[in-house]
Amino acid sequence: MNTVLSPSVFFIDENEWLDETKKDDFLQHFSDILETVEAYQHTQIYWNDDWELFLWDHPQIPPWRQDKNLRNSIIPLIYNLFPTLQDRVIDNLDKTFCETDPPIKYPKSLKEIYEYFFRFVHLFVQKEENVYLVWGVNKKDEKTRFFCECHDSSLEYFPIFKATEWIPRIEAIQLYWGNAKIEEESFRKAIELVHKQKIDVETTPISYTLSPKFLRSIQNVIKFKTEIINAMVKRLLLTSAEAGKDGQLQDEYLKGKKGRTKKFRFRVTPRPNSTRIHYKQEGGKIIFLRYYREGEHDEGL
Ligand SMILES: [Zn+2]
Repeated sequence: MNTVLSPSVFFIDENEWLDETKKDDFLQHFSDILETVEAYQHTQIYWNDDWELFLWDHPQIPPWRQDKNLRNSIIPLIYNLFPTLQDRVIDNLDKTFCETDPPIKYPKSLKEIYEYFFRFVHLFVQKEENVYLVWGVNKKDEKTRFFCECHDSSLEYFPIFKATEWIPRIEAIQLYWGNAKIEEESFRKAIELVHKQKIDVETTPISYTLSPKFLRSIQNVIKFKTEIINAMVKRLLLTSAEAGKDGQLQDEYLKGKKGRTKKFRFRVTPRPNSTRIHYKQEGGKIIFLRYYREGEHDEGL
C-alpha cells in the first residue's frame, strides 16, 4: 500500500514555527516519517512535479528551508529519499477536488497547497485505491472522510499519525526473507522488526550471535519462516527458567558428552513437525548454533 502525505507533514505556518515546541514536534515527525519509509521501504510516497514545485519554488517557503542548519540536515534526507521511494502520479491534475468531513482546518498562508492536496486526494478516490494517509503532527485520531460529488465512495485510507504506527503492519518475512537464500544482515533485520512488533517500537536492540552453521542451516528453508523468527525472538526475551516453562518453546538442556560445551534447544514448531533450534550461552549471550528442520534428527536425545 502506498502513501499520501498530508501537506501538514512538510509545511508549517510561520507563526507555528516560532513556537519552539511546535517547531520541534513538527521536525521530529517529519524526519520520523521519512526515516521510517527509508528504513523499511514498505511503501512508496505518491509524488509529482507539482508537489516538487510547492516544496522548492513556492513563494510560501517552508520555514525549515530558511534555516541554514536545518536545510543542511533535511534537504539531503529529502533528496536522497524521494527519488527512490516515490511513486510518481500525473501532473496537471484536473480540477475535481475532495471535500472533507469534518472540514480540515489549515492556515490561510497554505491555502493554495491544501487546495492542491484536495485535488491530489481525489485521484485515489477515482482510482479506488487504498492508501496510507500520513497526517501532520498535531492531528488527533479522528476519522476524516474525503468525498466528492462525482463518486459515490469516499477515500479508503489507513491513517498514520505517528511513524511507529506503520511498524505492526510491516511483514518481516515478506520484506527480508522472501527468497530461499538469506544473508545475516537481512535475518537480523527480520529479528529486530519482530522484536519491535512484539515489545514496543522504541525498544532497544537485543544482543545475540548467529553462528556460521546456523546461517547455513536456514538457507533454502521454505516452511516455518515466521515460526523460526517468532520462536527466536521469544527465546531472546525470556530467561532460561521462563523458556523452560514455556509450553511452546519447551526449552531444555541437551545432555552431551562430558567436557563439551553445554547446549540447549527449543522448539520452533510442535510435533509432528518438531523443528528445533540449538544454541549455547556465553556470558549471558545466546549463540544460535543450528536450525533442525522436519525430519532432521537433532543430537543429544
Ligand atoms: Zn470524484
